Amino acid sequence: MTAAPALADAVLDELRQLVGEEHVLTDKPARYSRARVPAPFPVHRWSERVPDLAVLPGSTEEVAEVLRIADAHGIPVVPRDGGTGLTDGAVPFRKGIVVDVKRMNQIKEIDEVNRTCTVGAGISMLKLNEVLAEHGLIYPDDPASYPCSLVGGRIGTSGWSLIGSRYGHSRDLVLSFDFVLPSGEVIHIGDGAGRKLSKSSSGYQLKHLFMGHQGTLGIATEATLKLFPKPEAELSPFFAFPDYDSAYRTVGELARAGIATFSGAVLFDEWKVDYLRRDDEAYIPQPADVRALVCAVAYGYEDEVVAGGRRLMRIAKDNGARYLGDEVSEGDWAARHDRYATPLHGRTRDGQVVPMSWHCEDAAINYSELPKVRLEWHEIVRKLRERFDMFDDWGMFTYTSASTGVDYLTEIDVGIWEQRLDDESWAAWVQAKKDIAAVALRYGGSISACHGSCREGEVDLVPEELGGGYDVMLAVKRAIDPNNIMNPGKYGLDRAYQRGEGDLG
Ligand SMILES: Cc1cc2nc3c(=O)[nH]c(=O)nc-3n(C[C@H](O)[C@H](O)[C@H](O)COP(=O)(O)OP(=O)(O)OC[C@H]3O[C@@H](n4cnc5c(N)ncnc54)[C@H](O)[C@@H]3O)c2cc1C
Repeated sequence: MTAAPALADAVLDELRQLVGEEHVLTDKPARYSRARVPAPFPVHRWSERVPDLAVLPGSTEEVAEVLRIADAHGIPVVPRDGGTGLTDGAVPFRKGIVVDVKRMNQIKEIDEVNRTCTVGAGISMLKLNEVLAEHGLIYPDDPASYPCSLVGGRIGTSGWSLIGSRYGHSRDLVLSFDFVLPSGEVIHIGDGAGRKLSKSSSGYQLKHLFMGHQGTLGIATEATLKLFPKPEAELSPFFAFPDYDSAYRTVGELARAGIATFSGAVLFDEWKVDYLRRDDEAYIPQPADVRALVCAVAYGYEDEVVAGGRRLMRIAKDNGARYLGDEVSEGDWAARHDRYATPLHGRTRDGQVVPMSWHCEDAAINYSELPKVRLEWHEIVRKLRERFDMFDDWGMFTYTSASTGVDYLTEIDVGIWEQRLDDESWAAWVQAKKDIAAVALRYGGSISACHGSCREGEVDLVPEELGGGYDVMLAVKRAIDPNNIMNPGKYGLDRAYQRGEGDLG
């Protein structure tokens, strides 16, 4: 066993006494595997980001005590749930202690009368929904990482859900949670004093502040969630188009139609169709005349889904869509919920299969701006590929975020053969991410609808995106975490501790 080198023996002893020896992990595999996330990673610099140790607490009280110890010694702490975040949130930039909350995965209560449940932050939506199904209920937070992202990580990122156009996203579905501040103090965050309120106007609305902060303000340990009747029917027709423009027009009409069961729509551009054709990721048979795809999704009781589905089909057909049939539609929609295998391989230009990692851009873009953003993004990636052969353009998805189709989670996927990265190609990649983010801002969008914007490159533009709001962020960070122990190095928040920065007014 390799000992955690940087922490004093006294700190290690305190932590072992607190959570038990077996829940303080200092061996190399445990530390190295908690150094990275599935986002493209400079593997040639892996050792710079390895934590000193990982702690697996079993309760809110233990988390509170770990933070008290860390705060007293000024040790960096990085919260980690599923480790699926794509913005480097769970990467320990400054080493220190990773607090891995996976042991806190119990279902504490299912309240069928108020339609809520209370769970530990370490449970996955898959496991939770297996139990809720026995009660005819569902917790509809449904990211493409559904089986492996956990409730605490959904709070840490304020996640986006595939069926959010009907049910809302993590911020709408999480009613309240217990939260440990860097000092070790435990507070309850939510609407009002209760755990189960969905709307209160009492005081500042702190729930949004304590979601999506990427673990820079503290650790959520237990959450109360909103539940819905388990849908009787899911309809997910896939439509083929001969060109991007007709697919784009159709997705807009589908999203704007105001169909009550409409839960989301996805547009695949021709680069994405080409990638799927090459790499056989999807269930879609891909004759050469298919250049773009749209999938529209309706969830609910069978009778209402049938009625809404009829209208969705009619809108698509009026726009020249070709329905791809039930088998393809159901198969590919199922594949959307677990894209974890996707990023594990790619092909070189001469067709050789190689281990490739997956970069997924995730800007929020208004419908009217999508075509322009798309062309500029592909151009950025084309120029990168011209210079370096370890990058590939895996095409674009755009997904509705709201039931009215106002804005779309807009994703360009870039394949990267990580083992080939060196300092020069990594720097070019970081610049490309910055350029991609700049395009999103130029068209009035946001750098991130989904993952957060902490990655090298894009993070430089966050102050520009938020304007005066970024100064508020600095002030809040310094007030809540005076010793900068929570996930230091993220979002440029170190600035909050420099003289003059983080002062308001
Ligand atoms: C294949 C794939 C598909 C994806 N699809 C989607 C998608 O459709 N929608 C979407 O939103 N995301 C998606 N993601 C990204 C990722 O799954 C989400 O960001 C998810 O919310 C992260 O959850 P996690 O449990 O893995 O958290 P982690 O990666 O462990 O942590 C994420 C961030 O939250 C912080 N954090 C973790 N736990 C806590 C806690 N208890 N309290 C406070 N902060 C905490 C961490 O420090 C980190 O900054 C996808 C990722 C993959 C790999």
